[in-house]
Amino acid sequence: MTLPSPDGATPAMAQWFSLKAEHPEALLFFRMGDFYEMFFSDAEAAAGALDISLTTRGTHGDMPIPMCGVPVAAASAYLARLIRRGFRVAVAEQTEPPRKPGKGVPKGPLARAVVRLVTPGTLTEDELLEAGRQNLLVAVAAGAGRAPASRNWGVSWIDISTGAFETASVPPDGLMDLLGRLDPAEILAAGDVDLGDFDARRAPEATTPAAATARRRVAETFAVASLDAFGTFSDEEAVAAAMALDYVRRSQAGQMPRLAHPHAHENGGILGLDPATRASLDLLRTRDGTTEHTLLASVSRTVTAPGSRLLAEWIAAPLTRSAPIAARQDGWSWLIEEGGVRTALRQGLRGTPDIARALARLSLGRGLPRDAAAVRDGLSIARRIAASLADGRATPPALIADAMGHLGGGTALEDRLKQALAESLPARVEDGGVIAPGFDPELDAERGLRDDSRRIIAGLQNDYAQQFGVASLKIRHHAQLGYVIEIPTAAATRVRDRTDLILRQGTASAARFSTDELISLDRRIAEAGERASARERGIFAALVRDILAEPAVPAIAHALAVLDVLQSCADLAAGGLWCRPEVTDDAAFTLTGCRHPVVEAALPRSERFTPNDCMLEPAQRVMLLTGPNMAGKSTFLRQGALAVILAQAGLPVPAKAARIGIVDRLFSRVGASDDLARGRSTFMVEMTETAAILNQAGPRSLVVVDEIGRGTATLDGLAIAWAVLEAMHSTLRCRSIFATHFHELAELAESLPRLSPHTMSVREWKGQVVFQHEVVPGSARRSWGVHVARLAGVPEPVVRRAARLLAGLEKERAVGARPLPLFSSTDAPATPEPVDAVEPGVPEAVRRMLEQLDPDALTPRGALDMVYALKKLM
Ligand code: ADP
Repeated sequence: MTLPSPDGATPAMAQWFSLKAEHPEALLFFRMGDFYEMFFSDAEAAAGALDISLTTRGTHGDMPIPMCGVPVAAASAYLARLIRRGFRVAVAEQTEPPRKPGKGVPKGPLARAVVRLVTPGTLTEDELLEAGRQNLLVAVAAGAGRAPASRNWGVSWIDISTGAFETASVPPDGLMDLLGRLDPAEILAAGDVDLGDFDARRAPEATTPAAATARRRVAETFAVASLDAFGTFSDEEAVAAAMALDYVRRSQAGQMPRLAHPHAHENGGILGLDPATRASLDLLRTRDGTTEHTLLASVSRTVTAPGSRLLAEWIAAPLTRSAPIAARQDGWSWLIEEGGVRTALRQGLRGTPDIARALARLSLGRGLPRDAAAVRDGLSIARRIAASLADGRATPPALIADAMGHLGGGTALEDRLKQALAESLPARVEDGGVIAPGFDPELDAERGLRDDSRRIIAGLQNDYAQQFGVASLKIRHHAQLGYVIEIPTAAATRVRDRTDLILRQGTASAARFSTDELISLDRRIAEAGERASARERGIFAALVRDILAEPAVPAIAHALAVLDVLQSCADLAAGGLWCRPEVTDDAAFTLTGCRHPVVEAALPRSERFTPNDCMLEPAQRVMLLTGPNMAGKSTFLRQGALAVILAQAGLPVPAKAARIGIVDRLFSRVGASDDLARGRSTFMVEMTETAAILNQAGPRSLVVVDEIGRGTATLDGLAIAWAVLEAMHSTLRCRSIFATHFHELAELAESLPRLSPHTMSVREWKGQVVFQHEVVPGSARRSWGVHVARLAGVPEPVVRRAARLLAGLEKERAVGARPLPLFSSTDAPATPEPVDAVEPGVPEAVRRMLEQLDPDALTPRGALDMVYALKKLM
């Protein structure tokens, strides 16, 4: 959208143009009194997005200026809506107090400056944030030197709402995996960096400093001589870190939030999950963006928002080393044993404030009284929790002992906050009454002066009533006039001659007067009130400095989050339906009685989830799974993948028992791909994803794939599926579950020794197919597609016609050459003859159709359809 030229603007509009020029890409919230106002194209865009009325104010170049505004008091709600709609907002405040008109007072608009740029990755207000989710700003920088294709990526991420600050250096093909894991709110990257599916989250501008400058800037931010003080950072990591820091600094108009010092992640140590795998497994969000029916929702028993965020981080980044996994397991196993401690912990954590986010707001000067109270309450809850953890009988494991070590800290600060903060706190510091009486003698004195004067005034009412002989006289406080004597109009004539009464205002019902005494008391109250308020703001600012200077506070916030996740796991596993998996360093893989937690939770009460075993041990590491649609194949595939994620995240697994050799990369290709919208055909998408697996999977990987080759002609598809299966089995040597509708592939078991064919058992009952959701050795010999069509409500005549055609085709194929002899296993469930294998004799088919016909139940339309169907059968 283009703006008119600023030439000829009024002084106020000239100020607007110059601030707008600093942030052309953002909507400018221009503070005018109690409103933020927007002008020109900003006003048009915002009015549309917020559904508020668009008006005009004044003219510019003879044209009316489009304008809309939002009240300052409700700004957060409007900001939230704008950010969600993809806007960025620059907030310009008045930086000098309103002037009272008078002699010598300068004319022209009040000074204004942009004090903050609100972008998706730099939010701090609870109203703008999701409580249970991180909100990350991510910077990406390309490594220098080598050829572009072999450059590492430096990635850095900051959550200013909690102060987390981390970096990683990832190999050329690792960027999408990492972005998938971080799920950034906003990404900074030079224009030539391809962000793939994440491009929509790119910030409009990003400047990339040189490596040496970047290192210096990060070090300066944390007041250390060199970045090495915090570990080893590659050049690209340092550049990314500086990009993120610069952006935060700019967005907060120079003010820096409290950030943890940067922490460099070692390469590796985290299970590889590409974005397609994450999407197929609905880990933290489903494909349509909701948080219900996700793995996170099905395992979370956390009771605090920071706990829920940490659990999400664990699920998003499962580990690949057994020691830290075991440490997490030890943590919650201990809490299962110590039932009393667990209950007390869960109780204690309930209602714990979100200390990390309160700290972030305090550090940005945006802290509210309730944020300071959050720290006070958090510290005292932490101390109580530390005491209750000490009640455990057995020695606590490392993670719990660590947390306990932190929880008792910050007592001096806690005491100070308890003394300083008033019992019931106002929403904002300016409202007054934040600091408790008795904490600061000077504040008490000012308040005393103010209150004494108020008391004197209260006493005056009686005196004046007698003095002036008006019993109905009242002394009231009036917003503009201050304290006034109010006398009903009817009685006002009685005081008409009094010279000590100064008439201030007359209305239809009452006249308002002052006296010299009242004016001087009023002034004293106002002055003492102002001094009290300034004193109070000063004390609050000092408290905030104390809070930010106390290193125990962020450590306690983290310890409480860890404890919440551990109690959540213990609560989940204590019921006996979730197990502690054995996580090993070999290639083991045995799940006993495993379930899919999300599908299980979604089943209606009348249905039970059928648990299944899954063995991918070295001798039979490739499972070939056949079976009809709707029999439960995808559920089985996904539950195997989810078991790995949960186990390596150190969490309980929904199974009787599980033994899993650590997986380095997990690939899951299950369920429809939504790439069609981007114009790639299903088959192209399928092959691109297959290529990704074949190029990246190795002997420590787990691959679960559904229906490779479905997107093309039968023979093509079969040939591709066959070749891929062989490659997985013999070249990649990974553990895998390969679901297919090409039953012929089961034949390969004869030549591929580690292939174990399995199928979903299906029973037929009274002519209906019943899916038992049970995985059994063997292979399906038919696909039951015709039955599924009927289940889905395809009209009966069509279903019957399909059955008849199928019977004909099967007969033809039995006579002609078969592409592969059909596999048959002695273990395979007895497959009954198909119900709908209609004998070729036409009269027979017609007879059976008529037999099942109930003429009374037919609608006229149904009868007509039936006639057509019968005619076709002849
Ligand atoms: P497929 O991939 O074979 O078409 P799905 O895995 O999508 O089948 O399963 C279809 C439906 O069957 C699921 O939505 C679920 O309701 C049910 N289901 C799947 N597996 C089980 C199971 N093990 N126990 C109970 N119900 C199941």
